Amino acid sequence: MLRGQMMDTPLMISGILAHAAQAHGKQEIVTRTVEGPIHRYTYRDCYARTQQLAHALVALGVKPGDRLATFAWNTYRHVELYYGISGIGAICHTINPRLFHDQLEYIVNHAEDRFIFLDLNLVELLEGLADQFPKVEGYIIMTDREHMPETTLKNALCYEDLLEGQPESYDWPLFDENTAAAMCYTSGTTGNPKGALYSHRSTVLHAMGLLAAGTLTMDSTTSVLPVVPMFHVQAWGQAYAAPICGAKIVMPGFRLDPPSLLELFNDEGVNLTLGVPTIWLGLLNHLNETGAKLPAGFVLVSGGAAAPLSMIKAYEEDHGVTYVQGWGMTETSPVCAAGGEGPGFTELDEDTRYARKMKQRRLFGVELRILDDDHNDVPHDGKSSGELVCRGPWIASGYFNDDEASKAAITEDGWFRTGDVATIDEDSLLQITDRTKDLIKSGGEWISSIDLESVAMGHPDVQEAAAIAMPHPKWTERPMLVIVSRDGSSLTADDVLAHLDGQVAKWWLPDDIAFVDELPHTATGKVSKLQLREQFKDHKLPTI
Ligand code: AMP
Repeated sequence: MLRGQMMDTPLMISGILAHAAQAHGKQEIVTRTVEGPIHRYTYRDCYARTQQLAHALVALGVKPGDRLATFAWNTYRHVELYYGISGIGAICHTINPRLFHDQLEYIVNHAEDRFIFLDLNLVELLEGLADQFPKVEGYIIMTDREHMPETTLKNALCYEDLLEGQPESYDWPLFDENTAAAMCYTSGTTGNPKGALYSHRSTVLHAMGLLAAGTLTMDSTTSVLPVVPMFHVQAWGQAYAAPICGAKIVMPGFRLDPPSLLELFNDEGVNLTLGVPTIWLGLLNHLNETGAKLPAGFVLVSGGAAAPLSMIKAYEEDHGVTYVQGWGMTETSPVCAAGGEGPGFTELDEDTRYARKMKQRRLFGVELRILDDDHNDVPHDGKSSGELVCRGPWIASGYFNDDEASKAAITEDGWFRTGDVATIDEDSLLQITDRTKDLIKSGGEWISSIDLESVAMGHPDVQEAAAIAMPHPKWTERPMLVIVSRDGSSLTADDVLAHLDGQVAKWWLPDDIAFVDELPHTATGKVSKLQLREQFKDHKLPTI
């Protein structure tokens, strides 16, 4: 082989913000702070403070390879931590404060976090947990002196005090781009959470991959508001992609209710936003109830769970929004595929257009396959389903300090097992149909719970729907639908069955329909099928 004669400069996360400070120095990062007021500054300001933070971390004794945890919402200070911590070779370990307390205990201790950075309104939570974190040396509260609370947290420091007086320039080290930079544990519903450990290289390439996807439409004229938290897979890469292309970042803090979001959308010219479908269902209800409007040219991205077709249609047709659905997971940085549009999209008939909207096109850099139970490739015909496996520079090759889980996650030929069930069609578009753990197998055939839920949610009186497998002596399993109906509706099981009839195969029709006030959700906003199955474990189907 003849070696190329190009420079081997490493892909460094610090280089992203250094670039933004120069190329897009005046672009803004706007935050609804935890303290309350709106804070705004530029990439240049952010870069200067990140360099102060790097000095402060070194002064605290932080060494390369150390894990520093954040319990924090989407704010400018959290952005500074992303860059300051990884910039000195340490690891920014974002933690979801909504996880169960025993999971939080496991995660902080398993990661051996040395310090915890936390937002002001999470002090009480951490005070309650601190006894379980014997190895944590100190807590840094992300606020200024004026708002610094009295606290029982040991070695509690004030973030702004830490930065004060530190020099505004730092000589970022260059090191192997495969060095770990950030970490996020999966919010696994069974077993212990598992740590995905991102590298500088994977993070930079993922951000560039997002920008090349086209469907995510980001450039220096974009104003992006990530509703998806910075602790849920790095806010899906937004805090890295936006500085590369010079987009304005609008950080919503912890107020994610529709009126607070709408205020920021309108005041800050937001034209791109990202979040899980549950957030968008809530916003849609609010828009419909109040007649409030979204800004023109609005692109709304969802991921983390399947978006129901009826919601996508309502946003596109009633609210003039371009709806893009992405697929990814904690272990895949996360985005691997987004948007199913492609050439000739606008000329397609309505049904075909919306069918494509339910699918995703892979990003350059990611390879996808679907495998049957014997690990043979399943045909790409849009019908045959199997377990989705993937490979690429931003896909996990294992889990942090967990050999058993690492081994189970990778196929013999080196592909990551996603645990998702999917189809891939003739145009190479991906569609997730289920989680392997949530599959419904009736009479030897699979029923897609995602499809069933999506059709059920097309009924105007269905607010949310979840399909679960129930044991059945003849068919092995039969589907059952659990439904939250809209306030004030008098929806019956027969209404739902009549609505489903003709839209799904006859043998997919659920054997039972139950109505509940609320579905259980996980800390990342997915319906918790595990809890739901537990809730209905003693329920008897009327067809038995
Ligand atoms: P998380 O690690 O919390 O980001 O969750 C990843 C999981 O969310 C995936 O393995 C899927 O089961 C689910 N998911 C993500 N995107 C989609 C999508 N577009 N459709 C259906 N499920 C999705």
